[in-house]
Amino acid sequence: MTPLTEPAIRASFVNCTKGEVKRLALPRDLAERPWADLDFLGWRDPAAAERAYLVAESGTGLLGVALRVAPQTGRVRRSMCSLCLTTHTGDGVSLMTARKAGRDGRAGNSVGSYLCTDLACSLYLRGKKNAGRRLDESITLAEKIDRTRANLAAFLQQVVG
Ligand SMILES: [Zn+2]
Repeated sequence: MTPLTEPAIRASFVNCTKGEVKRLALPRDLAERPWADLDFLGWRDPAAAERAYLVAESGTGLLGVALRVAPQTGRVRRSMCSLCLTTHTGDGVSLMTARKAGRDGRAGNSVGSYLCTDLACSLYLRGKKNAGRRLDESITLAEKIDRTRANLAAFLQQVVG
């Protein structure tokens, strides 16, 4: 994706109040992010383990969502990310919940999905970051990337409503 600036990121959030947007912690290493290999920008708030953020290009421009990360249960288990379909053991996958945008969100509605805990789906897909294992599939990397982007678009669509 195209490298993003701090103002562009802050302006992209659809499910936060203005105050939340102003306070949210952006990645400190924006300039060093591997933009060319990213399908979306995702990060955890280093000061608040339960907060995560995701920003992606959409048909209508940049779209950012704030996520709540469900606490880990501590049990060793294996689970799969619903975006990139990478399987992790332990706490590599977390349930993340996004408040819906607009009136739905104010009414308390949210959308949840199991995502890579570090939101590094793009890097797992490309083999730039190692996960325990991946599905043994015969489709190409380009097809996997397309599928991940489609999964992400569907998730974001649910948030936007
Ligand atoms: Zn993933």
